[in-house]
Amino acid sequence: MELSKQHQLRQNEKPAASTSTSAVNGHLEDRTFITRSPDHSRGPQVAPGEASSHSASIMESWKEERTRSVEDNEMSLPSLAAAYTTILRGLGEDPQRQGLLKTPWRAATAMQYFTKGYQEKITDVLNDAIFDEDHDEMVIVKDIDMFSMCEHHLVPFNGKVHIGYLPNKRVLGLSKLARIVEIYSRRLQVQERLTKQIAVAITEALQPAGVGVVIEATHMCMVMRGVQKMNSKTVTSTMLGVFREDPKTREEFLTLIKS
Ligand SMILES: [Zn+2]
Repeated sequence: MELSKQHQLRQNEKPAASTSTSAVNGHLEDRTFITRSPDHSRGPQVAPGEASSHSASIMESWKEERTRSVEDNEMSLPSLAAAYTTILRGLGEDPQRQGLLKTPWRAATAMQYFTKGYQEKITDVLNDAIFDEDHDEMVIVKDIDMFSMCEHHLVPFNGKVHIGYLPNKRVLGLSKLARIVEIYSRRLQVQERLTKQIAVAITEALQPAGVGVVIEATHMCMVMRGVQKMNSKTVTSTMLGVFREDPKTREEFLTLIKS
């Protein structure tokens, strides 16, 4: 609440002017844009720490998240492969025919890769990547490629993730946003939770004035079965802090990720 009021104040000082110029930094990857918006460039600063109240209840949610190690992978590979042999038989296939001989091992290894996010913790990624910076303009990284596995059907869903945040004296190395996406998407997921986890991780790491995350994805469980809606896309969003409380900030973010 406090944050939103202060942000409102900030915006009232200088009306609208929200045709934000988007500048591409030379050192960034193709898909990475920093978007600068004039109406966030002045006004009172929010003291560090205040944003934490937004997510106090979900703090700790990502601190201890590594549930699998590389050693676990090696140990579980034989049983995982055996399970795939059972699946092949269950499908009416002959696991002994030439083309399928190594399939259980390949499939097991692939599945471990698709879910390698369990091997990583967000804290590992954030180490040495948070910088004190007197930058309080919206930062947007859009079109981050995302590949995940639907936990209901164990088939892929993939798409693009757009992330925006309004820093509060702390910024995150830009490539780390994509790493956060990678860690959470390479697990068994539902798109709604994935969206929220990314937003919460950024909130907890940076305690920014606000965070917005939008994911557009295609789910194989929708396009390959049932009504086979080939071109259907699922869009989810999570807005925290001023992105939730201030329609103007949210609108600016949504406009910028579409441009
Ligand atoms: Zn599904």
